[in-house]
Amino acid sequence: LRTEYINVERLSLVGQMAASITHEIRNPMAVVRGFLQLMKEKSPDTLDHYYRIVMEELDRANGIISDFLSLAQNRAAEKEECHLHDIIHELSPLLWADANLRGQNIELKLGTGIPELYLNAKEMKQLILNLCRNGMEAMDDKGTLTIETRLEGDLAQLYVADTGIGIPENELERLFEPFFTTKSKGTGLGLALCMSIVQRHHGTIDVKSQLGKGTVFIISFPLGSYLHGLPESQSAAASE
Ligand code: ADP
Ligand code: MG
Repeated sequence: LRTEYINVERLSLVGQMAASITHEIRNPMAVVRGFLQLMKEKSPDTLDHYYRIVMEELDRANGIISDFLSLAQNRAAEKEECHLHDIIHELSPLLWADANLRGQNIELKLGTGIPELYLNAKEMKQLILNLCRNGMEAMDDKGTLTIETRLEGDLAQLYVADTGIGIPENELERLFEPFFTTKSKGTGLGLALCMSIVQRHHGTIDVKSQLGKGTVFIISFPLGSYLHGLPESQSAAASE
């Protein structure tokens, strides 16, 4: 079994991203503008179709802007003690609905003994949702997405595994680059955002992938005191 590990450095690309985002946002905007022009002349049936395209593209532009903003903020959001499992359970209905639509399965394997961590729940949801969506998008309708948690030594770990197409070796190192995407409708911001969220929580992301077999993303949070109950200011002191 061939596996690839990468461990990604801190993002420092926000400057370059401002230029890229201008370009990215112009694409959906140009589509919207073009279809609005066409709408002036068309029958009600055609209008319905155009309407859907216009809404999709506007949502896409909006998605790019919100992801970009979360990424650009890149500051410690407020954290509080919460449990990864509670966050996963809160996301479940959304994930199951998504999987159902695609005819895919989701397996939950929640480990025991994992304590509460010092987390920003909203960011954790964003992280898990992004990883799960990528997993689903990489699989056909027989795929299984596995969400697993483990306590490994002094790490709390979250695994998001899919049985999808896998990632070619030459793409692994680019995965977390803002705007790197292999999808026609992708933004390439999902994993960049995941990386920045994990870093804000003092964790790490690893990826193992096998072409044609699947991919697993492993997020590890250290169970140090600074994750377990200390506010940010004290955590800096505690970790020195
Ligand atoms: P997007 O999903 O908009 O393309 P992401 O940043 O979420 O952007 O992902 C970047 C790229 O990484 C994807 O386009 C895809 O090529 C690859 N990727 C991410 N997750 C997976 C996965 N689970 N399986 C296969 N490829 C993946
Ligand atoms: Mg994505």
